[in-house]
Amino acid sequence: MTSPVWHPFTQHGLREPVPEVASARDALLFTKDGREVIDAISSWWVTTHGHCHPRIMAAIAEQAQRLDQLIFAGWTHEPAETLARGLRALMPQELTRVFFSDSGSTCVEVALKMALGYWSARGEARERIVVLEHSYHGDTIGAMSVGARGVFNRPYEPLLFDVTTVPFPETAREQLALDALDHACAGGAAAFIVEPLLLGAGGMRAYSARVLAEMRDICSRHGTLLIADEVMTGWGRTGSLLACEQAGVVPDLLCLSKGLTGGALPLAVTMASEPVFEAHYDTDRARMFFHSSSYTANPIACAAANANLAIWREEPVLDRVARLGERQRAALETLGQAHRIENPRCLGSVAAFDLPGEQGYLADIAPRLMTFFRERDVLLRPLGNTIYVMPPYSITGEQLDRVYAVISEALGATRL
Ligand SMILES: *Cc1c(COP(=O)(O)O)cnc(C)c1O
Repeated sequence: MTSPVWHPFTQHGLREPVPEVASARDALLFTKDGREVIDAISSWWVTTHGHCHPRIMAAIAEQAQRLDQLIFAGWTHEPAETLARGLRALMPQELTRVFFSDSGSTCVEVALKMALGYWSARGEARERIVVLEHSYHGDTIGAMSVGARGVFNRPYEPLLFDVTTVPFPETAREQLALDALDHACAGGAAAFIVEPLLLGAGGMRAYSARVLAEMRDICSRHGTLLIADEVMTGWGRTGSLLACEQAGVVPDLLCLSKGLTGGALPLAVTMASEPVFEAHYDTDRARMFFHSSSYTANPIACAAANANLAIWREEPVLDRVARLGERQRAALETLGQAHRIENPRCLGSVAAFDLPGEQGYLADIAPRLMTFFRERDVLLRPLGNTIYVMPPYSITGEQLDRVYAVISEALGATRL
């Protein structure tokens, strides 16, 4: 019998094989049929320290003996309290409040609702959200609304709300983007939501810390709230705990998920500055923040996150990221000497480049490359004509060399 599973971002009509993974460790996936696959995209950008990290697995096992789940409206538990305090200590001090949810999309929805709630409570008619071209913030309706429009969301377009889109700050054309942002904010925008330094799903597009800092200044000047979506960039991905740090930027709202639990369990937080919290603070129940999901602050997920925070406090995580970054840079350089690649870029643990030719997510080359890599036991998932490598920080030099050898083989192949 064929599997009844309907996979995400998968065209089942193409009848591609779907490998079954039985176990994993560090950067390796072990399939049911006995293959060893290198996970070069951190299982879609979530796994930071490596799969089945012993400290995180132990924390999960231990918490599972105590408390599995608890209503979080009006009740609390130790793992959530510890995590909120831990995040408060680790993240910029202006972000005083921690609101839990369970995915990147939901923490973005929460940030958008908080921003609108803030202006509503202040009695100011600010509703417009400003977004950056090529952005991705998730697949729920609100998150899609603030993301790039395209083939991903065309059928749902009637449900998406209007936003103002600022051009992506391409090198040498940054001022164009900044002027557009200034114009949008001057018009009384409620919030600007942005992926700091690196746009993930939009093609691993990088822009400078200077531009991000100027974006912050523009928002501040016009009172527009800055929402930093660090769902992908957070937890060391770009070489610092938060990408925002590299620009000396503190957002008004911060979205974290993916690496929050080291990638082990679904959990997310939206961290808010005190004014955003205060706008909802009242004795009037009609003014509270109306949002919850069933698994808000699930204790087992919080325990995993606490173990992740302990790793960050006690281990040289950023040194590992820096070493990985150096290896990535060297590998990309070697690749560029042997093959025609365009726009090679490295940021923290992430390396990316474009293939000459057809562009866009549906570029024909992507599925053929994916198959090529899969057949050689490397998990890579090109974004259109963009190939990127974003491994867990625990990938070995040997494994990374193998990933680049397979990429090189693909680029040298006359036909895929
Ligand atoms: C992955 C991602 C999201 C969505 O996260 P999910 O957990 O998949 O809902 C949101 N924003 C960014 C920047 C992401 O990379």
